[in-house]
Amino acid sequence: MIDQSEDWLPFDTKSIAREESIVTEQPCLFCRIVDGEVPSEQVGETDQALAFRDVDPKAPTHILVIPKVHVATLPELAASHPDAAAAMLTLARQAAADDGVGDAYRLVCNNGAQVGQSVFHAHLHVLGGRPMTWPPG
Ligand code: AMP
Repeated sequence: MIDQSEDWLPFDTKSIAREESIVTEQPCLFCRIVDGEVPSEQVGETDQALAFRDVDPKAPTHILVIPKVHVATLPELAASHPDAAAAMLTLARQAAADDGVGDAYRLVCNNGAQVGQSVFHAHLHVLGGRPMTWPPG
């Protein structure tokens, strides 16, 4: 009978796998923007949140507002760091005003891959500067 357990191996395969995943796991894109490792066109910042232009804008004003802390989705952030979630809303309003659209902006949060979330670090899209239809596609 073949021994399929890994007990006989002279090293700890589980901890090696764990270390490899730490080395090979892609770091979060938005965390890298917060750390300055990935360039972004920043338009606002507080101690808890950052605002920068979306690289693929869908409106004349298209700003992303993110928390500096890494949490995958906005509802999870609201549960774990409600102050950071509130700071995002405050910064979104300021960034929209600074971009010249005043209080006429749409906030979008794609929550989950099925509805279009592609970056799993909580964020708000701040969209403005053109007429918008409802409902969104
Ligand atoms: P979502 O699809 O809701 O997760 O939104 C992610 C957004 O991030 C998309 O609108 C992308 O265009 C935007 N994005 C991706 N990479 C960058 C980047 N390096 N700088 C700015 N925006 C980005």
